[in-house]
Amino acid sequence: MKIDIVSVFPEYFDVLNLSLFGKAQARGLVEVTAHNLRDWTHDVHHSVDDTPVGGGAGMVMKPEVWAECLDDLLGLGAEADAPEAAAGTVASEAGAGTVAPAADADTSAADTDTVAPVLIFPNPSAPLFTQRDATELSHADHLLFGCGRYEGYDARIPEYYRAQGVDVREYSIGDYVLNGGEVAVSVMLEAITRLLPGFMGNAESIVEESYTGANALLEHRQYTKPAVWRGLSVPDVLLSGDHGKVDRFRRDEALARTNEIRPDLIESLDCHALDKADRKT
Ligand code: SAM
Repeated sequence: MKIDIVSVFPEYFDVLNLSLFGKAQARGLVEVTAHNLRDWTHDVHHSVDDTPVGGGAGMVMKPEVWAECLDDLLGLGAEADAPEAAAGTVASEAGAGTVAPAADADTSAADTDTVAPVLIFPNPSAPLFTQRDATELSHADHLLFGCGRYEGYDARIPEYYRAQGVDVREYSIGDYVLNGGEVAVSVMLEAITRLLPGFMGNAESIVEESYTGANALLEHRQYTKPAVWRGLSVPDVLLSGDHGKVDRFRRDEALARTNEIRPDLIESLDCHALDKADRKT
C-alpha cells in the first residue's frame, strides 16, 4: 500500500519507522512518504494560512497551496481546474475502495494506468472514523492524507476534488478537538494498516477483536498467568479446558460489557448474528 501524507510538520511521522509499522516499511508492505505542505508555497514566509472570510478568531489553511500540492500528488494537471468536469467512477464496487480517474476527463489530468489515491482529511466536524472504515480502506492501493492545522482547511478543497472525481473522505477520530491532523492521521493509519495481510506477526490476532465483523461487540476481558495474582483469580471457567464453555463465557461477557458500556453497538447489532443462547442473556 502506498501512503502519502501532507503536513506542515512532516517530522511527526518519523515514528512510523518504529515497531510493526517500521518492519512493514522495511518489508515493502507499506511505502510512506510524508510531504511538507510549505514546499508548495512561493512566498518568502512559506505561508499556508490566511484570515477567515466572515471574521472570527484564528487562521484557515489556504486552498491555493493545498491545490498545488494535491494536484501534484494526485497527478492532476492544471487543465483539471474546472470543477464541473465529469465525476470519476467509484471503483469500490470492485472492492478496492479507490477511484478510477474521471472517465472523460482530460487524459493529461491523470495517469490512467495507476489507481487514484483515496484522499482523506481528518476533521473533527466530520463523521466518525470506525473499524468499518478502517477495513474498507485497508483494501485501497494508495491513500493520501491531508493534515489540517489552525482553524482547519478551506471547505472548498474537499469539494473541489470531489468534483474532479477523486474519492475524498473526511473523518473525525472522536468528539474532541486536537491541534492538528497529524495525530488523527496516525490513528487512522495504524487502524488501517494493521489489517493488511502480513502486517501483524499473528494474523489471528485481528480476527476476533472489539468492533470487528458483522457481530461487532466490545471484546471480552483478557487474562494471562498466574491464575491467582495479588489475591485476584481469573474466572474458573477459563481454567476448565472446556472450549465450548470458555467460548460461551467470553461471548456472554462481550454482550454484557457492550450492553453496559456501548449500548449503541447492541442496538445496531444484526439480530441474525445472535444465537439462541445470546437471546437469553
Ligand atoms: N476549528 C475546527 C473545529 O472547531 O471543528 C478545529 C480545527 S483543529 C484545531 C485543526 C485540525 O486538527 C483540523 O483541521 C483537523 O485536521 C485536526 N483535528 C482536530 N481534531 C480532530 C478530530 N477529533 N478528528 C480528526 N481531526 C482532527
